[in-house]
Amino acid sequence: MKLSWPATARAINTCRVLNLLRDNRGLSKAALARMTGINKVSVGEIVDDLSERGLVRAAGKIEVSNGRRPTALELVPDAALALGIDIGPKTCTIALGNMNNSVVRFERIPTEATRSAEDFCVSLIKSAMRSVRLAPEGSVAGIGITVRGSVSPDGRLLKRCPFLPWPDIPLAEVMEKSLGLKAVLAPSLQALVRAENPAEGSILYIDWGESISAALVRDGRAVSVSEAFGHLKVSDTALCTCGSIGCLEACASSPAIGAEAGKTLAELWDSPGIDRAIGAMARAIVSACAVCGCSTVILGGQGSTIPPQLSDRLRESVASHCPRFVGVPEIRPSSLGERANMVAAVNLALDEFLFHTSFLSSVRPLL
Ligand SMILES: [Zn+2]
Repeated sequence: MKLSWPATARAINTCRVLNLLRDNRGLSKAALARMTGINKVSVGEIVDDLSERGLVRAAGKIEVSNGRRPTALELVPDAALALGIDIGPKTCTIALGNMNNSVVRFERIPTEATRSAEDFCVSLIKSAMRSVRLAPEGSVAGIGITVRGSVSPDGRLLKRCPFLPWPDIPLAEVMEKSLGLKAVLAPSLQALVRAENPAEGSILYIDWGESISAALVRDGRAVSVSEAFGHLKVSDTALCTCGSIGCLEACASSPAIGAEAGKTLAELWDSPGIDRAIGAMARAIVSACAVCGCSTVILGGQGSTIPPQLSDRLRESVASHCPRFVGVPEIRPSSLGERANMVAAVNLALDEFLFHTSFLSSVRPLL
């Protein structure tokens, strides 16, 4: 498609180049031109512009069998940063991350629902300001806020959150006015799936941490997100926060396993309550896979820190509970690691305000 507005065409093509360099370190200008279909002169101008802005740099020469060796290009990871805020039932994490999704700084503050919505926002703003002040001026691309709950389709409003008693908090607007940075909200699970970018196929993606929820992912996209997963009945004891008895969340969430509040799963894998948690998680996985027909299960959120021996035990428990007509799914931890939720929030902001990833995928058929 020939775009009639040159400035728009240049902006879109700049984003395409940035996205390709994000996914493939060491591409040459010629490779970028080939992969985008943009002519070499324009690619050269875009790369020069990105280099002047400090976002892209040369990374050595590429070996070729004959002729001049082209220059490999890479992003300068710390040239642009993003702020990620993850709102959990017990703690909120405020993290500053770079273009490689590496967290360079983070802090945790308690999620206190007993005060007013205004007080809650003020504590988030104060913490966000502490992080932004440490970043070089103008380097923060925007703020990504992830939350367990529902968000308006435009990513502006926190509509409902199971552990905050106030509906319809205009959190994006509040953060933008206080920090002078663009902000967007997304449900935690969707942000985790986006940051994970899982392969094709049918996947059950579990956000396992202070609360438990799951998404059904088909061909890399979350097609259904359900908090009901955390409230599947897996036991005859244990009172859940929802009022029912024996929910998965009441047996296997980090507050259910750890007697001491505020501990993450990474600190709880060797605690006495872990056997019950693994058994409960296995039963829930069997039920969900029987209904959804998922062949792969990804343990995400804090669950991505599961040690190999426990993940083996979970696999064995799932296999022993699986009815004969249900195939045993492959179970693996998320690749996002211990800081999965922070990385997901940072990635949300980078996608939205620097790489414009969802916008690009929506216009790709026209390019
Ligand atoms: Zn429940």
